[in-house]
Amino acid sequence: MARTLITGGAGFVGSHLIEYLLEKGHEVIAMDNLLTGDVENFAHIDSEKFRFVKHDVTNYIHIDGEIDYILHFASPASPIDYLEHPIQTLKVGSLGTHKALGLAKAKGAVILLASTSEVYGDPLVHPQREDYWGNVNPIGPRGVYDEAKRFAEAMTMAYQRFHNVETRIVRIFNTYGPRMRIFDGRVVPNFLKQALQGEDLTVYGDGSQTRSFCYVSDLVEGLFRLLTSEEKEPVNLGNPSEMTVLEMAEKIIEMTGSKSKIVLKPLPSDDPKVRQPDIRKAREKLGWEPTTSLEEGLGKTISYFKSKLKVE
Ligand code: NAD
Ligand code: UDP
Repeated sequence: MARTLITGGAGFVGSHLIEYLLEKGHEVIAMDNLLTGDVENFAHIDSEKFRFVKHDVTNYIHIDGEIDYILHFASPASPIDYLEHPIQTLKVGSLGTHKALGLAKAKGAVILLASTSEVYGDPLVHPQREDYWGNVNPIGPRGVYDEAKRFAEAMTMAYQRFHNVETRIVRIFNTYGPRMRIFDGRVVPNFLKQALQGEDLTVYGDGSQTRSFCYVSDLVEGLFRLLTSEEKEPVNLGNPSEMTVLEMAEKIIEMTGSKSKIVLKPLPSDDPKVRQPDIRKAREKLGWEPTTSLEEGLGKTISYFKSKLKVE
């Protein structure tokens, strides 16, 4: 039986990974300092094969016994969160990744780093392929996240090349679903909260910027395939169906049946104008592509938000 550590396990993606890996028969240890995560996200899990350790992974990580896999997901992920915690974001991407890699080396474990489409910055190549190096402003407000993840990728490749650690790198594109924090500020939870509470939907800029939204269960399937593959170079995982932020606001109003209006607000600095994953590599190497439609994924997410917000 595989024994697996998930850093950031109390977060949105981490909590879905716990469930998926328990289903696959893994013993799972979730580690998290609860900066943006919540133990509520796994409170429903009742398994002897699961355990939670509260720990800040920027400090030395000690785990008794063997570890086969490490999924390093600890990091603030929403622009609001990393603007609120800029130093923690830099530290978890750099020091936290160093500690996770050190543990992988000591245990002989395979480690998968959760990187991000933000390594491409405000991209000048569209859609984004893994061989594009990006267009990142290191000193802008988003730089704390983008550069931390770029450093994390560099450190991961160095551990692979210098210490022969089995490493995997995923570049995750915008993913949504149940257990996103209602107030985390990312576009889907923000619009859902606003639509369900009858508030105006705040579209930043003119809403013509694009994103490509992947439902969380599709992502998790791709993560597992990457973890258990031989692919040592970064792989994009995301849903290539691209839409404008304005279209997302309209879709959420339609699907919630909300009477909310759309209002325009200033565009945050360095907000990428376009974003769409080129997933040819994931298709070829992992046999993976998303299968959940926007309607189906948003439907499940709306149900979750309704129960959290206690609205019908
Ligand atoms: P999240 O905020 O829900 O989860 C992140 C978790 O990391 C939280 O539980 C937080 O408490 C924990 N954490 C932060 N700093 C820590 C530290 N020093 N020690 C221990 N735990 C710490 O966000 P998420 O959406 O689940 O993102 C998870 C990972 O996936 C992140 O690394 C993020 O960069 C990456 N990612 C997510 C998306 C997405 O669309 N959801 C896109 C790109 C990349
Ligand atoms: N956005 C928006 N209104 C909101 C929240 C976000 O228009 O209430 C926009 C944001 O400016 C960006 C896109 O939605 O263009 C996606 O934002 P998110 O914070 O989800 O993550 P990003 O993809 O920028 O990392």
